[in-house]
Order: sequence, then structure tokens, then C-alpha cells
Amino acid sequence: MESKDHSLIAYNVLEKKIINSGFCTLCGACEAACPVSALQIEGEKLHRLHDCAEDLDLCPICYGVCPHSEAHLLRSLRFVSDAPIKNEAIGYYRKIVLAQATDPKLRELSHGGAVVTSLLAYGIQKKVFDSAIVSQAEKENPSQPKPSVALVPDDILSSVGSKFFPSSVAKAYGSAVYGYGKTKIAFIGVPCHVLALRKMEAWQHKISHSMKITIGLFCFGTFSLSPLLKYITEKYKVKPSEIKSMRLSRKFVIQTEKETIKIPLSEVKEHILPSCRTCTDFTAELADISVGGAYPLKDWSTVIIRTTAGEDFFYDAVENGVISTWVIEQEPEVMERVMIAATNKRRTALEEAKKMEEVYGYLPIRMLRESEELAKIKVEDIMTKDITTVEEDISVGQFLELIARNHHVGYPVVNKKGEPVGVATIEEAAKVAESRRKITPVSEITKQKIVPSYPGETALDAFRKMEKHEVGRIIVLDPANPKVMLGIITKTDLMHILTNNAPKTDT
Ligand SMILES: Cc1cc2nc3c(=O)[nH]c(=O)nc-3n(C[C@H](O)[C@H](O)[C@H](O)COP(=O)(O)OP(=O)(O)OC[C@H]3O[C@@H](n4cnc5c(N)ncnc54)[C@H](O)[C@@H]3O)c2cc1C
Ligand code: SF4
Ligand code: SF4
Ligand code: SF4
Repeated sequence: MESKDHSLIAYNVLEKKIINSGFCTLCGACEAACPVSALQIEGEKLHRLHDCAEDLDLCPICYGVCPHSEAHLLRSLRFVSDAPIKNEAIGYYRKIVLAQATDPKLRELSHGGAVVTSLLAYGIQKKVFDSAIVSQAEKENPSQPKPSVALVPDDILSSVGSKFFPSSVAKAYGSAVYGYGKTKIAFIGVPCHVLALRKMEAWQHKISHSMKITIGLFCFGTFSLSPLLKYITEKYKVKPSEIKSMRLSRKFVIQTEKETIKIPLSEVKEHILPSCRTCTDFTAELADISVGGAYPLKDWSTVIIRTTAGEDFFYDAVENGVISTWVIEQEPEVMERVMIAATNKRRTALEEAKKMEEVYGYLPIRMLRESEELAKIKVEDIMTKDITTVEEDISVGQFLELIARNHHVGYPVVNKKGEPVGVATIEEAAKVAESRRKITPVSEITKQKIVPSYPGETALDAFRKMEKHEVGRIIVLDPANPKVMLGIITKTDLMHILTNNAPKTDT
């Protein structure tokens, strides 16, 4: 559906940068967050049901919450960044342990530690949360995930095990809030799912207030449903309805009633979604608790506890006998494998992003936290010296026109003498009623203070300041005269550094 030319409608950017470029992983966050129900995931596609520009003249939401956009990354980090340990491969955390469900039947069903299922069943039973967003198996096609709102332990037990195709769990989260009126929800998903929900929280979207806990799954990638199933049917003569489960070890293992088929990963690799190729997060770095395999151990899971909420809930389940734990330091090979997998995923993603930038002209990458690379670069070498500023007495209407023309969403505001007084953003402009935009001066929406950096600081210093002050851009000032602006650095500039300095992998 063709929209009116409305540069302030986020859908237009979402369509161009994410959907048309093949980066949508069908999480459904945009559908859940859209204020006018204009989007819907149906089958393996995101559809626009009507042109939202007919209802609104400005809306930044869907692009902002999409996990594959660069928006709100730094703000999302704050949900975990008070954890005492920060590791370059796996992010911020408080503790890492090995864990398994004490119920052996559950472990058998999950092919892992069944930690997630046990935690969820326990949490529902004890009313820690009132529902959980899970991915059950479709009846007629058991390898296909069916995102669902689980209300009782039986719903949770039927979701045990991993499905390696996209699951619209953020859409199901929206149904839990709007359809079921749930207010204490446990959310389970792969790293990009968790990021989408954190972005909603960072944005303070009203549905995010119902989130009680997020459990993230380690993730190397998901596959395109129809193309992979077609390949398996043609090559291995197995119909989708005959597949009982799929497992991932050194091979991609398909279980049917009659046989076990082991497919080399190199054969299925080409069906991994484009977004997964540039995804840097292996361990769900923004979850309260992250859970993944504990190879080479069988029946155990690796559990990374990142927040105090996650820690309290996890150890409550341990004390009540639902989960047993083991010290990960006693199994160095497990830790080593997790670190290697996380580091390799990050490196390959950065390399791939560089290639994709050449194709698409922008970066399909989410930079979750600083890399050591940023410490090697000086602010003066990367700042943009040609700064577009706005004068504080122009109207909000004129400011929005500038945004529509230039596509940047925040600008330094200057007084009559050309001295910086703050930063105005599209978010603040959006809060002004349309009827008042022509008469409201930009000075009234200049809520962000200037967060300064200086030419001799490193890009890492600049990144840390962005994180601390929750801003997307930093203004470089002259140390000799802090009323003089020398340059500006944005999150996008920092992403360029990361991709341009991506180390080469051996694989
Ligand atoms: C696509 C994908 C890729 C993965 N890649 C790796 C990997 O490379 N290395 C690794 O160590 N671990 C990986 N995992 C995680 C691993 O498979 C287990 O999910 C994790 O170890 C938890 O195990 P468990 O026994 O505690 O989970 P269980 O108790 O079996 O519970 C699994 C939970 O996962 C949810 N779920 C299943 N499929 C999906 C899906 N597609 N999207 C969202 N939620 C889903 C279910 O709702 C269920 O609640 C991956 C998981 C997925 C879904
Ligand atoms: S979230 Fe906003 S921009 Fe996106 S489709 Fe809905 S109304 Fe349009
Ligand atoms: S928010 Fe999710 S469903 Fe929407 S475009 Fe992004 S990845 Fe796709
Ligand atoms: S690899 Fe990244 S983008 Fe792909 S499904 Fe996993 S978390 Fe999402």
C-alpha cells in the first residue's frame, strides 16, 4: 500500500530499511506497539492493514521498537548495566551457573536442562506472574512455533523445546495485555525478541509496564520457514507434518516417527534469516535471565543471571527444589564454548554488516555495548564538523520540516549568539499538539542538556557518556571555550567504527 509522502511516519523508514531489505524477523513488536492497529503479521509476512498517515501526521513508534533498528539501543542497555560484571563476549551479568530441572521427564522432553519450562511453571504456580509468552508447536507442523499466552502450567509444559523458526512472541505479548488484561507477564524469546521488549520499556510504551520478567535464549539464528522446509522435503523426502522435533548440536537433527536425520550445518546455513547474519548478541544480553545449552554436558543448561529481579526469582525456584544448580567453574569447557560462540557471532556479524552496508547503504546492525575498538579512536577523528543547528526561536513546525528534510531526529539548539543551549528531538516535538506547532518555539521542547565531549577524549568515553545520559548524540566542545561547538558524534558514527574495525575471523 503506497503511503502519502510523510517522512515523519516511522513506518516509511521501517518498510525501507527493515521490511524491504529482508531484515524483519517477524517478532511482532511493531504490531503490538502500533497505536492505530495498522500492522499485522499474517503467515510469514508483516502486512500494513491501512495507511496510518491517514490517522496520524507523526509517529516514531514502529521503527523505534523494531529490534533491528538503531533506535533506543543505549537506553535499553540500562536495564542490565548495573550488574557488577561486564564481559566483552556475553555482556553484563551477576552470576553464571549450570542448572537443570529436577524433573527428569521435562529434561528428556526439552533435550536440554528444561530450566526455562521449570522456571515458568513454578512462576505461574506461585503467582509470581499471571501469564507467560511461550512458543508452542503447531499441531499440523510441529517444527513451527506457535506464539501463545500461557495461563496455566499445562500451557507451559506443552511449549518445552526449541523451535528454530521465527516466533511472533512480541505480538503475543500485546495480546496478553490487550486481549487477556494481564499485568505480570513473563516473556521468553531469543535476543532480538528481548531487545524489542526492552525498547518498548525504554520508550515507556504503556504495554511494557506489564512485563514482570524476561528470559532470553541463546541464539545463533533462526531459519526461513518455507524455504528450509521445502529444502528438507525435496532432499530428504520428509514432509513438514512428519517432523516431530528439530535439534541443534554439531548437526541439524530432524526427528520423525521413523527416523533421525542429521543434516550438516553447512547445508542449512543459507536459509538463516538475513538479520541473523548481522546480529551481534548470542546470549540475550538484555534479559533478566539468559539460558542456553551447556555443551558438552547433556541435560544441563547454562544460566546467566543479569538483574536482581532475575536473581531473586531464579534462587527462589532453586530453594523450592524446582531447579538444581552446579558450579560452572568446575566445567571449564562449557564456559569456553559459550565464550567462543559469543565472540565468533559478534565478529562475523560485524564483518557481514560491513558487506551489507555496501549493498544497502546503511548499517543493519545493533550495537549493544561498547567494544574495545572504541577506546583506540579519538573523538576528533570521527566527529562530524559540519553541524546542523536550530535556533531556539524557530517554531516546532519548522523544526519538524527540518527533520523531514534531513532525516536526523535530534539537533543542537543555539541562542542568538550561536552558543549551544541544549538538544531538541523528534520525541519532544511529537508531544506538541498539531494545532500548537506553528506557535510553539523550539526553546520549549529543548529538554535535553548538551552532553559534552572534547576532541582529545576517546570514542569509548563518548559512548559511555551517551549511555550514562541516555542520549543518541554528543556535542564536541572546544576545551578552551565551551561555548564553541567543534563537532557532533552520533550512535551511527560509533556503529561505523565498529564495523570498520571488525577483526577478521578464521572461518
Ligand atoms: C532459534 C533458537 C536458536 C538457538 N540457538 C542456540 C545456540 O546456538 N546455542 C545454545 O546454547 N542455545 C541455543 N538456543 C537455546 C536452546 O535451544 C534452549 O532454548 C535453551 O538452552 C533453553 O533450554 P531449556 O531446556 O531450559 O528450555 P525449555 O525448558 O525446553 O524451554 C524452551 C523455551 O523456549 C521457547 N521457544 C522455543 N522456540 C522458540 C522460538 N523460536 N522463539 C522464541 N521462543 C522459543 C519456548 O516457549 C520454551 O518456553 C536456541 C534457541 C532458539 C529458539
Ligand atoms: S507504529 Fe506509527 S508509524 Fe508505525 S504503522 Fe503504526 S501508526 Fe504507522
Ligand atoms: S518489529 Fe519485529 S515484526 Fe516489526 S519489522 Fe521489526 S522485526 Fe519485523
Ligand atoms: S540471531 Fe539475532 S536476529 Fe537472528 S533470531 Fe537470533 S537474536 Fe534474532
